[in-house]
Amino acid sequence: MVIVMDLQATEDQIKSVKKRLEELGFKAHLIRGVERIVIGAIGDRKQMMASGIEVMPGVEKMVPIMKPFKLVSREAKSENTVIRIKDFDIGGEGIAVIAGPCAVEDREQLIETARLVKEAGAQAIRGGTYKPRTSPYSFQGMEEEGLELLAEAGVETGLATITEVVDEKSLDLAAGYVDIIQIGARNMQNFQLLRVAGRINKPVVLKRGLSATMEEWLMAAEYIMSEGNYNVILCERGIRTFETYTRNTLDLSAVPLIKQLSHLPVIVDPSHATGEWRLVAPLSKGAVAVGADGLLVEVHPNPMKALCDGPQSLTPDNFRQLMRELAEIAKAVGRTMNQGEKLI
Ligand code: PEP
Ligand code: MN
Repeated sequence: MVIVMDLQATEDQIKSVKKRLEELGFKAHLIRGVERIVIGAIGDRKQMMASGIEVMPGVEKMVPIMKPFKLVSREAKSENTVIRIKDFDIGGEGIAVIAGPCAVEDREQLIETARLVKEAGAQAIRGGTYKPRTSPYSFQGMEEEGLELLAEAGVETGLATITEVVDEKSLDLAAGYVDIIQIGARNMQNFQLLRVAGRINKPVVLKRGLSATMEEWLMAAEYIMSEGNYNVILCERGIRTFETYTRNTLDLSAVPLIKQLSHLPVIVDPSHATGEWRLVAPLSKGAVAVGADGLLVEVHPNPMKALCDGPQSLTPDNFRQLMRELAEIAKAVGRTMNQGEKLI
């Protein structure tokens, strides 16, 4: 059930409704939009209808949510969720671009990439330090040393930082170093990890599982939100199909569909979706055209030498070119690119 507060509801009235819900044994989630405040209440519907909450001062109406995903759903919150990270937004008018290598390899590689993607207009630097590789014999990541480098790259360039976590231990550690936590496709249904990510105070990028349905993906986001972290960004990164020419099949229909079903921001990762750098630019443009709020793109200063995912990584030159072209697409669909400041 969602309790929609009046536009003029006072803080005291909001607090009283939340308190009353909790006294009655419901779990209450205060979700603040730009215009409105709604309270997501989880519990028995009949009992809630009979509770008298609907006539409390400051309450406009109570709306039942029919979908299995509750806090995530557009029914719970009609406005888009806009997440502020450092000096940019995801989910607002501007398109946010996260770029960087698949894995943090060394200081020089990361800092150089961070400077280059910043100059090209990106807002955040990505870099894996815990790498869930298909083979246990492949490079597994620099772990905490890599996190330190990411933090350094953030300070040096002003970019926000993001890295993938694979378990509670890496999550605890990474939360002390980076601005955004990424949960990868392989862990989308690691429910324990999702719950722990729901208890931190950092935005979480939740990638779509390799063969996850929309509902499974949204239910995974619900796990995070149900623990009180409402800053979830969904990332479409391709799904497993019968096609073998591409690493995965990018499901662009997920973008407008999720936008209908949920208020959360949606970004697209064309790199893991295709596994092929030549397809990254066209699909990035397609993603912006269908309404994505941002992109997550792999960029490496020397893809041929990358320890991980070189064939799908853009060179800095190709990334710069893509950023210029994206500005045109964004304009055509009434959006703008978030402004990256030029380094002096
Ligand atoms: C990644 O972004 O580095 C990654 C491993 O992606 P995914 O979880 O989508 O495979
Ligand atoms: Mn990768």
